Amino acid sequence: MKKFFKIKNKCGMDLSESEELFHGLGQYAQKKLGFNKPPTLHLVSDGDNASKPLGKTAYYDPQGMAVTIYTDNRHTKDILRSLAHELVHHTQNENGMLNDTGYHGEGYAQKNKDLRQSEKEAYLKGNMCFRDWEDSLKQSKPTIYNEWRNIMSTKNWKNNELMENLTEKFGFKMDLGLLKEAKQFANDDSLDGDKDGKPKWADPDDPVNKEEKPGEDDNKDSEKEEEETSKKENFKPKKGQEPEHLKKAREAKNESRIMKIIKNEIRKQLKERK
Ligand SMILES: [Zn+2]
Repeated sequence: MKKFFKIKNKCGMDLSESEELFHGLGQYAQKKLGFNKPPTLHLVSDGDNASKPLGKTAYYDPQGMAVTIYTDNRHTKDILRSLAHELVHHTQNENGMLNDTGYHGEGYAQKNKDLRQSEKEAYLKGNMCFRDWEDSLKQSKPTIYNEWRNIMSTKNWKNNELMENLTEKFGFKMDLGLLKEAKQFANDDSLDGDKDGKPKWADPDDPVNKEEKPGEDDNKDSEKEEEETSKKENFKPKKGQEPEHLKKAREAKNESRIMKIIKNEIRKQLKERK
């Protein structure tokens, strides 16, 4: 472990799991904030302060170049966020920006304009520096939990957004499960032998419709002929009535056209998102 800070652990806090994080954040903050020398880090305990709901959490000592953090009953992450905030004050001090003239008493963040500005910067840069460090750490060393959670939440978010856009576009709520079924249909040999998107009952080119039926001998020719004649008769549309096979073909065609429109829309939206 590369030690960045000189840590004075005066609170007896167990650092075996977290010391690495203090040094890591310090190193990251130095690069981001641009301070020169690491400040000394004091970790302290103060029961009296801890019992106050709005007690002190941390402060920076510009003369001693030291950060002091009160650790009682605090989450490690919260302590680290305090550290990031105080490191901004340390940077301000190194740059001569920490104005030590003027009012320093109660309410200095409201009454002293310069200190108010320093405080604003510390909250903004400190918190964002902490957040960026945290995210970079999780991305470089993702635990299974973090990885999975990130993938799932992104996926859910994307799907919800996609659904909303589609609903807006077509004016009704779409069931994306239907697309899955359509895909299954295209992959199912028993429904579409040549996989051209046309179901076998609407596709004269489908192998099923071209296959010679095995086991039929010459003696049955007349039977076959008869069969075919009756089939042909079925092809003749009765007045005012659409033949069943044409109806099926038309419906299948309409359906695949709708699927195509929906798929194109999804593709378009996925592209726009990139
Ligand atoms: Zn501050």
